[in-house]
Amino acid sequence: MTGSIVLFGPPGAGKGTQASLIAEITGKPPVSTGDMLRSALSEGTELGVEAKAFMEAGKLVPDEVIIGLIRERLKEPDASKGVLFDGFPRTILQAEALEEITEVSAVISIEVPDDEIVDRIIGRRMDPVTGEIYHVSFKPAPIEIHDRLVQRKDDTEETVRSRLDGYHKQTKPLGNWYGERGLLITIDGTGSILEVGALVTSAVNTL
Ligand code: ADP
Ligand code: ADP
Repeated sequence: MTGSIVLFGPPGAGKGTQASLIAEITGKPPVSTGDMLRSALSEGTELGVEAKAFMEAGKLVPDEVIIGLIRERLKEPDASKGVLFDGFPRTILQAEALEEITEVSAVISIEVPDDEIVDRIIGRRMDPVTGEIYHVSFKPAPIEIHDRLVQRKDDTEETVRSRLDGYHKQTKPLGNWYGERGLLITIDGTGSILEVGALVTSAVNTL
């Protein structure tokens, strides 16, 4: 399959957690707009400066900024056989722009209700050394690395509510948009990380 795959779902649904598994099965490099923006922010680039206030408020970064970022990323040689998008597109305008850049072969939507999202996001921790995503209860990190774990600045209860609100208003309609195009595969994301991983694996194997 030469097209790209989109991982879709609310913030905290488990997209990043499942992305490495899908990347391993398909050989497609994961492209996370959230990770790209966070690197820009920590490096203090122009993009980072532009995105900072939106990210900290739990609001979407403007479409034209994100589309420019993706256009550049897809020029890299490793993207020639398609990539695995995580957290992009998030608006219909972004999806329309993507149609001009690359072919989307499938959209895997991980579905999790809002109440579970809040618990997942508030307990999320990241290892800055390996990039691994942990959770204080659902995926505890090994004790040796506890000191270096970081919590994202936007992973607070208040910001989560704003991100969920934005998701329902701006991003969820995009699921239907892909559904109308026959590309949407929905997965129940409420099980354990391993259970969701098994569902994701069988969905990817049917592509
Ligand atoms: P997203 O990339 O969609 O924002 P993450 O993959 O970062 O989501 O997951 C959010 C948090 O929820 C992380 O702390 C992760 O460890 C945890 N998590 C992911 N999948 C599950 C699951 N199936 N059950 C419980 N917790 C999960
Ligand atoms: P999560 O999946 O946990 O919401 P991400 O890491 O995907 O987090 O995104 C973090 C923040 O980066 C978002 O709240 C938003 O401000 C910005 N962002 C990431 N991807 C996009 C996108 N495709 N469009 C607009 N803003 C984005």
